[in-house]
Amino acid sequence: MIYLDHAATAGPRRPEVIEAVAAVLRDGLGNPGRSGHSLSLRAARLLEESRCVVASFFGISDPARLVFTPGATASINLVLRGYLRPGDTVLASSWEHNAVMRPLRWMERDGGVRVEIVPPRRDDAGYPRGVDLERLRERLDTGPAVRMVALVAASNVTGESLPVREIATLAHAGGAAVLVDAAQGAGVLDIQAERDGIDFLAVTGHKSLEGPAGIGALAMLHPDQLEPLIRGGTGSRSEEEEQPSFTPDRFEAGTPNLPGIAGLAAAIGLLNRVGIETVASRHRELRGRLVARLRETPGLIVHHSADERGDEPGWLAVVSFTADGCDPGALSWALDRRGIACRPGLHCAPRAHRTLGTWPKGTVRFSPGPACTEAEIDAAVAALREATNEVRGGG
Ligand code: PMP
Repeated sequence: MIYLDHAATAGPRRPEVIEAVAAVLRDGLGNPGRSGHSLSLRAARLLEESRCVVASFFGISDPARLVFTPGATASINLVLRGYLRPGDTVLASSWEHNAVMRPLRWMERDGGVRVEIVPPRRDDAGYPRGVDLERLRERLDTGPAVRMVALVAASNVTGESLPVREIATLAHAGGAAVLVDAAQGAGVLDIQAERDGIDFLAVTGHKSLEGPAGIGALAMLHPDQLEPLIRGGTGSRSEEEEQPSFTPDRFEAGTPNLPGIAGLAAAIGLLNRVGIETVASRHRELRGRLVARLRETPGLIVHHSADERGDEPGWLAVVSFTADGCDPGALSWALDRRGIACRPGLHCAPRAHRTLGTWPKGTVRFSPGPACTEAEIDAAVAALREATNEVRGGG
């Protein structure tokens, strides 16, 4: 199988990650912070060492401001529901995943929150790109006060990264906090919460960080501004029936997912050794190859930039395309039969597809991981040619 669905979840994990997860399960470490015996203390040490690794990777100087969650969705819900109040206005980019849009739409309907979408800018060919920064600035300067700007670090549909630092500067000048959904960018883009002015940074372990699923994190510049979403036992201040007010305990009720945490820290340790710039440049190479090969293929539209070479900085190896006369779902089945794993449809991001003009059928998305080879890209595009013929009824 040629695995081109890294944006959904990474392919086989590296032995060091598997061993870190297995060691926690095998060694029967205790519950961290709950008991006084030596196994529990070892577990607590592993938890805090892992927290330091993840916090430092995302540019947070005080590890207590990095809390573990089950993933980006959980981190985003914690922020939106813990920060916003009735009457608040949130601006969201036009590329948001449903991890952001669904809690926002629910809070709009039931929680008195106003949601506004910031339009993209247009490139020379009229294609939608990133965020129209002028419109964002204007909106922040005029109209009802904005309490939060929410944006993806990189679109899971097009692979384009958004100018997070510039947006954060504009948002702060307009008095708004910034939530970045870095489910896709984390592990490829250099994202440093303090340096980049990201008030709340949500990440997930199982995509480009190449850790386990079911573990993620939230890095915060201002944890005091957030109400916890879940309250319960923390092993600390057990005499009190109120949630501790200090972080990370304030946001980490219940027994933590230590196997996941250890696996995530091991995965980030590997990334630190390889260097994020190496991963980013591999993404650019793969994207460049993929875009070039797809553009040579008749009857395909690569979304979404007409002048893109494919290997410019800031783009992930996540490429969406449509093929004339082919339903994305049917095409993906035909590819699966030829040993190519990819993802068709709306990718949980209907907003992004409306922006692209590919709603409601969506696209086919190829997203190779860094271990994918050039030969595999070429083989996948050759299989795609056959698959499009088959779906069009030609063979
Ligand atoms: N945001 C984006 C842009 C994503 O691609 C994803 C994963 N599809 C998520 C959020 C949610 O991540 P998780 O399912 O790990 O919570």
